Amino acid sequence: MTKHALITGITGQDGAYLAQWLLEKDYTVYGLIARRGTDTTGRLHELGIADQVRLLDGDLIDLSSMIRAMEKSQATEVYNLGAQSFVATSWDQPILTAEVTGTSVVKMLEAIRIVNPQARFYQASTSEMFGQIQEPLQSERTPFHPRSPYGVAKLYGHWITVNYRESFGLHASSGILFNHESPLRGTEFVTRKITLALARIRQGVQDVLELGNLDSKRDWGYAGDYVRAMWLMLQQEQPDDYVIATGETWTVRTFVEKAAAHAGFDLEWRGEAEKTQGVDRRSGKVIVRVNPAFYRPAEVDILIGDPGKAQQKLGWKREVGFDALVRMMAEADLRRVAGEVVE
Ligand code: NDP
Repeated sequence: MTKHALITGITGQDGAYLAQWLLEKDYTVYGLIARRGTDTTGRLHELGIADQVRLLDGDLIDLSSMIRAMEKSQATEVYNLGAQSFVATSWDQPILTAEVTGTSVVKMLEAIRIVNPQARFYQASTSEMFGQIQEPLQSERTPFHPRSPYGVAKLYGHWITVNYRESFGLHASSGILFNHESPLRGTEFVTRKITLALARIRQGVQDVLELGNLDSKRDWGYAGDYVRAMWLMLQQEQPDDYVIATGETWTVRTFVEKAAAHAGFDLEWRGEAEKTQGVDRRSGKVIVRVNPAFYRPAEVDILIGDPGKAQQKLGWKREVGFDALVRMMAEADLRRVAGEVVE
């Protein structure tokens, strides 16, 4: 008998990769999909799995849709990846973020309690819950101090997951994932914004890439590696919380430099802080500019995760390093944009 999994956020970056991973493992994969004005299944099509997943209409703020999704899917594994996931938007839409990213988690947990308390649950928590740096390396024992409405909403989701595990004995695990990227990353996120803009500048359909703080540091991994960790958590006898990270940190500036080289630019930085410009030595053109409008109201300066527990207990290890990740993203966007321009 095949296992049934339900993924919320199946149309997102992680949802698509996780669905692909579970399909390869012979799961029957269901996904909760919110009604939108436009088709949101692009990532599922890009991975060639759109006709293999079973989509169920439903919204994360609607408990009844989650109960129905649990009933229809008969899922024994539930991966709660759906969220308003963009930090910058959470300052503009803090209440929507609280509901879609935060209190929706208790609804999913209630749907599990009502329909099948034996189902295993994965909550997509985030390094943004650490926020203000208290320790150089963040682990499962590091205190939380979120610095955005998104981080605060996710912290609720994290603690309610822990609480339902402790209160009702649910097999509920929380993965505290550091940033993870891929060619399927949303274009509003800085890594993808960079690779897409550089490909567009290369093709002459964009002039300049505008960025916020070039010296923000992040621990960036590859989404394909991170969805394996989610699955591994639900295969354990005991539910638990795990940090998933690379243990390395890189600046936005370095990401830009490496991506620019893949896109065929010879980048040189001129000026400092808000006046910084990235100039292509070959053409003499300014291709990168700092725009303070993209600074966060409250910045998370540096995030580095300690994946020691996941490595030891789950046997999880990342396979794609930083250089390979930047190359994969840069090349995918160069191909995409070249295709668009030719067609
Ligand atoms: P995405 O933003 O790519 O995907 C979010 C998903 O949630 C989309 O499928 C979106 O659907 C869905 N969604 C949004 N609002 C609703 C709603 N009201 N009802 C139903 N579905 C909704 O995120 P990622 O794939 O990158 O991340 C997956 C999860 O992991 C998220 O919870 C994110 O916060 C968390 N996370 C991500 C990290 C990362 O670096 N990627 C790091 C740590 C945590 P639609 O397309 O229709 O809007």
